[in-house]
Amino acid sequence: MFKKSHIIFFLGLCFFSCNKEEKAPKEFTNVDERLHSFFENFENEAAARGIEIDLNEAILTASISEIEGQGVAGQCSRPRNSIANDIVIDESFLNSNVSNLLKEFVIFHELGHCFLQREHREDEYPNGNCISIMRSGIDGCRDNYSSSFRSIYIDELFDPDSF
Ligand SMILES: [Zn+2]
Repeated sequence: MFKKSHIIFFLGLCFFSCNKEEKAPKEFTNVDERLHSFFENFENEAAARGIEIDLNEAILTASISEIEGQGVAGQCSRPRNSIANDIVIDESFLNSNVSNLLKEFVIFHELGHCFLQREHREDEYPNGNCISIMRSGIDGCRDNYSSSFRSIYIDELFDPDSF
């Protein structure tokens, strides 16, 4: 009898503290809230590689709307002398049933342009797979942003000189 109630109490305590430890999602100003979790993951992936990033300190806006042109899932505008770089993610793409991994690919690619100031990189491995998620998509290399290779691509995103 004593043992049973002890176990119940213990589980109750665990649930309570587990809930308490859950972090509230981070908010990003001038960024559509449907993109917040991706932006937070971008910061977390940078932090895991020893790079401190606060996207709220970047002069950056991000919105979701229909982009003209077939197959264009995202774009980054970096107007010269402008106040803010601007990311647009295509509404149809984001609402489609593509995987979260593919959505992350597109959003991280645009952050590569608009935040990391990276240009396109078309290099490929001997097997034809793209070395970078910063590939243009126009040239020949094959995307391989799978759960197995995700971390290698993110390593390259933040440290292209090592690849
Ligand atoms: Zn691009």
